[in-house]
Amino acid sequence: MKVLVAVKRVVDHNVKVRVKGDGSGVDLANTKMSMNPFDEIAVEQAVRMKEAGVASEVVAVSCGPMASQETLRTAMALGADRAILVHSDAELQPLAVAKLLKALAEMEQPSLIITGKQAIDDDCNQTGQMLAALLDWPQATFASTLEIDGAHARVSREIDGGLETLRLELPALVTTDLRLNEPRYTTLPNIMKAKKRPLDIVTPADLSVDVAPRLTVLSMAEPASRNAGVVVPDVATLLARLRQEAKVL
Ligand code: AMP
Repeated sequence: MKVLVAVKRVVDHNVKVRVKGDGSGVDLANTKMSMNPFDEIAVEQAVRMKEAGVASEVVAVSCGPMASQETLRTAMALGADRAILVHSDAELQPLAVAKLLKALAEMEQPSLIITGKQAIDDDCNQTGQMLAALLDWPQATFASTLEIDGAHARVSREIDGGLETLRLELPALVTTDLRLNEPRYTTLPNIMKAKKRPLDIVTPADLSVDVAPRLTVLSMAEPASRNAGVVVPDVATLLARLRQEAKVL
């Protein structure tokens, strides 16, 4: 069973991003970039499936600038067998990425696609769902467990009232939630091995996909700064202040 895993190069989660002076976007100059954390979980899951003999091949795919090759090498250091980059320096919105991934899925014919539930740069939480819709495949989002049972995937997902378990017919698409697994660290020998693994580069034109943006960002702004909190000595003071000052009781 072949598994396709989508990995996005995003601003590292430890970086505090700054909005550009003209409000046109986020300043990415000299910013540390990493693999989207939910995609690390997706790669880990696929690699564990390969180690368990459930998956036969893990293919990592990314859409973005040439520097995304670094993210794909990390995916291979984590255990992916090979990688494909769809190279584009243009802004790629979720619908464009979903169309590119659909074209790759049609080429590669995987039984399972795993994406992160969301990319921590745009927080869109759209690409996996759009991809499943374009492919007309069953989808299970926010997976906290994933098991393959013959021609089906069994996925549990946390919902408000508890756990929901879904059975999907393969091929299917699953998006990862934090609890699915804890990704391993890359090791130096595996980083060296990953350098030799195949990484193909294609373009949106090769895949006949129009990636023109459909949404326009009107402006971007830092969140308003908040006043510092105060420590009150007891509950009575807290209630009094909530009544008299905040006027919320
Ligand atoms: P989003 O809909 O942007 O929040 O992204 C959800 C998931 O889709 C991510 O966790 C990735 O697995 C995948 N994805 C989004 N953008 C890209 C991209 N440019 N390249 C590869 N995968 C992507």
